[in-house]
Amino acid sequence: MNQLAPIADIADLTEAERSRILAKTARFNPPEPTTADGRRDLVGMDRTQLIAEMESIGEKSFRAKQLWHWIYHQGATDFSVMSSIARPLQEKLAERFVIGRPSVATVQTSEDLTRKWLFRFRDGQEAETVYIPDPEEDRGAVCISSQVGCTLSCRFCHTGTQTLVRNLGAAEIVGQFMAARDSYGEWPSPHGETPRLLSTIVLMGMGEPLYNYENVARAMKIVMDGEGIGLSRRRITLSTSGVVPMMDRCGEELAVNLAVSLHAVRNDLRDEIVPLNRKYPIEEVIAACRRYPAASNARRITFEYVMLKGINDSQEDARELIRLIAGIPAKVNLIPFNPWPGSPYETSSNSAIDRFAKIVMEAGFSSPVRTPRGRDILAACGQLRTESRRERDGG
Ligand code: SAH
Ligand code: SF4
Repeated sequence: MNQLAPIADIADLTEAERSRILAKTARFNPPEPTTADGRRDLVGMDRTQLIAEMESIGEKSFRAKQLWHWIYHQGATDFSVMSSIARPLQEKLAERFVIGRPSVATVQTSEDLTRKWLFRFRDGQEAETVYIPDPEEDRGAVCISSQVGCTLSCRFCHTGTQTLVRNLGAAEIVGQFMAARDSYGEWPSPHGETPRLLSTIVLMGMGEPLYNYENVARAMKIVMDGEGIGLSRRRITLSTSGVVPMMDRCGEELAVNLAVSLHAVRNDLRDEIVPLNRKYPIEEVIAACRRYPAASNARRITFEYVMLKGINDSQEDARELIRLIAGIPAKVNLIPFNPWPGSPYETSSNSAIDRFAKIVMEAGFSSPVRTPRGRDILAACGQLRTESRRERDGG
């Protein structure tokens, strides 16, 4: 008879697996955030690092608090506007540090007002960021990339056709959001008006955020800090293709909303279209969702399900889906497949999507169909890809 391993052993295994993932992914970390003339970028440092930097130049630690306010609350990019800091210190800071932003390589606005930036980082690598205005409300979500390229190669995803070039650093992850805010003038005005438009973050751009966990976590902690940008964890959603050991850690440490790219309800099909399934099969992904600490009726887990014509869109698939997720506080986001040049699938018909949505809804799960946004500028889900390449294949 099969014996279940004692719980402690499972925990140890998970810990070992997490360390293995973290060590492996760290090899893809970006270069130091330093300019060509040797100045260090303050963006992306956590409070402890910022205090250490101030102490290293003989300044008191309260300077770090002042800087935090200017950088993350006011959106300052220049020390000379920091009126609470005397001119000589402003100059001293400017000699040693910068408040960086990625540069805008291109920016496009779709006919539906979705905006896509191609951001270029200090080493010339590029990633895309998308702002998706909500047509019903006066606000929207910023879709942020976590990596340049992706190690995984989901069959329906344009990013997956590009190999992983490197992880984005915390500065580059926060920097995408800050640069998007710059572009809309969305920082508090001196008259006290606070930003409204760019008030939600979805980690659904290029890359697998849980394969770049440490940089993503540092960036999200900065974004959630109440004395700076101050986004609540409820306004942040991290989407993963199902890196099970890191899902637990994300729940414990960040407790942001979780979206899981399920896309198939049978392992044979999911093995093919989301190859990570060979490592973490459906049952393990679902079990990790069941124990995700930040899930509740008020904060449901989102299951993302791309609708591929004749592949995963039958009524039988829908019924199996509701069986799998029964009892999880969840909603199911049906995403009509967004084509890209050379993509191997077709979008399901509207009637297939409606039939599928109805079955899921009748089982008590909300099942919104995600309206494609920004397709005309290749800004919709799964259409992002850059020309960035790895210079040498280090193996
Ligand atoms: N790597 C993470 C987050 C980025 S992808 C993940 O896979 O979850 C964000 C969402 O877009 C995922 O649900 C992904 O499966 C979906 N997606 C990818 N390609 C798509 C396409 N061509 N059409 C529609 N959705 C797509
Ligand atoms: Fe990577 Fe997500 Fe695209 Fe899969 S869907 S290749 S995990 S970015």
